[in-house]
Amino acid sequence: MVGLTASEIAGYGVGALLVCVTVYAPKVDVLLSASQRSSLGMCKRCGDLRMIACSRCRGTGYVKSNGPFSFRLMDDVYEWLSDSESKTNSIRCSKCQARGHFSCPSCSDIPQA
Ligand SMILES: [Zn+2]
Ligand SMILES: [Zn+2]
Repeated sequence: MVGLTASEIAGYGVGALLVCVTVYAPKVDVLLSASQRSSLGMCKRCGDLRMIACSRCRGTGYVKSNGPFSFRLMDDVYEWLSDSESKTNSIRCSKCQARGHFSCPSCSDIPQA
């Protein structure tokens, strides 16, 4: 050892650990929540809600009828300004049959009450 005491070595170790924790905190948090869910017997995908929000219609059950190449931002502003009118330009989401959500595939083998 070249002038390093045990406490200095320990200090470096703790410092490195703190850096690791800080950098990887979000990842660790995700891993923890997933493992927590599974340890609690909850579904990892839906957290025992038995449903997953539809990604196509964002849980609303309806999508714009003017196609995927429309001005999405203007649509959102328009929808925000007059929600009831924009519904006339919307069609039922074919991905979720306008329900806005799916039954969770991880839970689908469990018979629903
Ligand atoms: Zn599930
Ligand atoms: Zn949908």
